[in-house]
Amino acid sequence: MEKREKIYEGKAKQLFTTDDADLLVQYFKDEATAFDGKKKGIIEEKGVLNNKISSRIFTMLEEKGVKTHFVKRLSDREMLVRRLRIIPVEVVIRNVAAGSLCKRLGLEEGTPLKEPTLELFYKSDPLGDPMINESLAKVFGWATDSELGQMKESAFKINRILSEFFNERGIILVDFKLEFGEHKGQVLLGDEITPDGCRLWDKSTLEKMDKDRFRRDLGKVEEAYREVLRKVME
Ligand code: UDP
Repeated sequence: MEKREKIYEGKAKQLFTTDDADLLVQYFKDEATAFDGKKKGIIEEKGVLNNKISSRIFTMLEEKGVKTHFVKRLSDREMLVRRLRIIPVEVVIRNVAAGSLCKRLGLEEGTPLKEPTLELFYKSDPLGDPMINESLAKVFGWATDSELGQMKESAFKINRILSEFFNERGIILVDFKLEFGEHKGQVLLGDEITPDGCRLWDKSTLEKMDKDRFRRDLGKVEEAYREVLRKVME
């Protein structure tokens, strides 16, 4: 497999074509952003840690029957993935109230939700990922009814698998964001699952082990990501 040209550079990752038209190399950077890119920084070794964390989680999800873009980890910072047509609708699942939900509804962070919730956001940097609903996603052609159905079913299944996986390792899965794409007529999970896009709290101390340490200047960011990697490899 030969890595060819860079076709995309995002805030935390780059994508490269390969000699196979169906496969891309996803490269993880150390750059971190928050608040729609207004806060920027570097988390030392984040690319290496996130590539390993995401590879472990995607492998585990595939074993449990979730369809994903992941093929294999290639190196410290690179994984091989199936080429997707990204569906520009981000799915957020929550088990405990935090972040934007608390701001929007005036809730105290840490309030348990009596069942998992699902929110949709339109993937648009210039607009700052505004919240949408299924009706808007369909009207503007961002996702079909069938795609939305598959995304929702997959997202709740992933939540069940990941909540249990993290719980067994002493971590509460508070919330997380997923992205999906279409590949050969199938809806696959894409992007990454890492502390950049999940809220993870230590079950006994409630200490944050995710990007909120960077967003809120709590310190020990790299250490927290490293601890998540250690736990997911258990
Ligand atoms: N999230 C993300 N990318 C985004 C927005 C949110 O990965 O563009 C993740 C975030 O890390 C958290 C979950 O989705 O785990 C819910 O985020 P929330 O809506 O609370 O927004 P926030 O206040 O964190 O921006």
